[in-house]
Amino acid sequence: MICPKCGKVDSLVLSDYYQISHDYRILKNGKVSKRFKRSSEHTEEWSAVTCNECGSQWSSVVNGKGGFYISDDGTIVLDG
Ligand SMILES: [Zn+2]
Repeated sequence: MICPKCGKVDSLVLSDYYQISHDYRILKNGKVSKRFKRSSEHTEEWSAVTCNECGSQWSSVVNGKGGFYISDDGTIVLDG
């Protein structure tokens, strides 16, 4: 895929970011339990397309300019 900003071929990278919060139980003695559960409601997930050549970035959480989405046939569409 060609970067629409600088025109370089094969310089675009798709990165997935996961931010999973772990909930630790606090015990009666005031210490933190070693056990934790993943708190799914606080999970944020987003991805970004970055150009290694010019540093331009498109984010999956941006609608419109500066964002991107993956179309039904699996093609990445960059916006702006
Ligand atoms: Zn570029």
